[in-house]
Formats: sequence, structure tokens, C-alpha cells
Amino acid sequence: MEREIKLIVVHCTATPPSVDFTPERLEACHRARGFRTAGYHIYITRDGAVHHMRPLHEAGAHARGFNLHSVGVAYEGGTDEAGRPADTRTPAQRAALLDVVTALKRTFPQARVKGHRQLSARTGKACPCFDAEREYADMV
Ligand SMILES: [Zn+2]
Repeated sequence: MEREIKLIVVHCTATPPSVDFTPERLEACHRARGFRTAGYHIYITRDGAVHHMRPLHEAGAHARGFNLHSVGVAYEGGTDEAGRPADTRTPAQRAALLDVVTALKRTFPQARVKGHRQLSARTGKACPCFDAEREYADMV
């Protein structure tokens, strides 16, 4: 691993619960935006399945200015049916997300866990629609 990982950044896809945003759709969507493949390293769908989208040794494309030294993890969801920001994580997603963050912290003990919006005060984003920094604050 040549990359120094300082941050584990949590995202949502900003899709409502009724949208089945499969890993294939995520990848197609990111390719359409000009990325080589999905911008996140790890993607967790509503069923709690963990999809490895991009090797950890490669920089992601998920947080402008922070990609070089971070790992990006996203969960499927993040808005209600009207498109308003909402923590739509299913119990399976919460459990999987905790497992993934725990494993990443074990691999990169020096890394801090933050939600996308917590990277800078100027993002103007709601992503990931819950307080990731607080939720994983007790993690050793
Ligand atoms: Zn995000």
C-alpha cells in the first residue's frame, strides 16, 4: 500500500428508497460523469451487501481535494421520496457500514472517519445524511 490513508469518508448516493441503485447503475452513472469506474471504493446496497468497486490502493473519485489520502465508502440511499436528505439506512446497511468502517480502521488506524459534508464547511452538501463523525467516534 503506497497510499497514506488519513480519512475514511462516508457518502450516500442521494437516491430515494424506491430506487434500486445497483452497483452496476452506480458504476454506469460515475462513468457517465467521466470517471474510469465507480468513484467509491466500497458500496453498500440496501440489502447490506458490501461491493468492492475500486481497489483500495487506487485513489478514489468521491471528495474533491481529499481523494489522494482517503477511502470512500457509500451506502445506497440518503433521500426520502421527495428528494430531501434523509438517513434511509436499513438495519442491514447500518451493520455492514459498521463492519466496513471497523475493518478499515483496523487497516488504517491513523485514519479519521468523517461524513462527506464534514470534510469542509463549504461543501454545501447533506451527504451522507447522518453524523458519521459522531457515530464512529468511539471506534478504536
Ligand atoms: Zn458524498
